[in-house]
Amino acid sequence: MDAADMGKDLLSVLIPEHELQDKIKELSGQIDADYDGKDLLIVGVLKGAVMVMADLARALHVPVQMDWMAVSSYGAGTRSSGVVRVLKDLDTDIADRHVLVVEDIIDSGLTLSWLMNNLKSRNPASLEICALLRKPDAVKVPIDVKYVGFDIPNEFVIGYGLDYAERYRNLPFIGTLAPHVYGGE
Ligand code: 5GP
Ligand code: MG
Ligand code: MG
Repeated sequence: MDAADMGKDLLSVLIPEHELQDKIKELSGQIDADYDGKDLLIVGVLKGAVMVMADLARALHVPVQMDWMAVSSYGAGTRSSGVVRVLKDLDTDIADRHVLVVEDIIDSGLTLSWLMNNLKSRNPASLEICALLRKPDAVKVPIDVKYVGFDIPNEFVIGYGLDYAERYRNLPFIGTLAPHVYGGE
């Protein structure tokens, strides 16, 4: 899927494909350097992190294992509640492992802060976060994110794994949606 397939549904391209791919290369270089000689487990948070996991994993030179978690925030509405349910847990025992959590976006940070506490209780050797995108609201919940791709404005974005009503995940760029898609004017 690309911009042409979206017709009038696309409002703007916020981060084009080549910028995403350049950033993935940059992040993978840092991760390679930091985990040199270590045994790394990267954990993707489903479903949004699928694209960044796939591209990051292929850009990395250090050997990695890949695992996945699926979590969902309780509560109605579009705001994260901070109460999280594990829909799919890790297959891997992370005790004494070097773990890097890979996220699509940090908005309020509530989901990730819950997840980090959950993973910490399993006693990994180290635990860090790589998030492709971060919104300014994220600073309200203190989370130490070691690798951040882009700080973006407080807008709802889609593409490169991120959905609106399960659509647009397969766009190769990050964009914003025209108001009529949300049922606006
Ligand atoms: P948080 O708990 O940090 O507020 O957000 C958790 C989840 O909400 C993210 O992992 C992501 O799935 C979703 N989310 C937050 N902001 C956006 C956005 O701008 N676009 C999309 N598609 N999902 C978002
Ligand atoms: Mg996510
Ligand atoms: Mg979503």
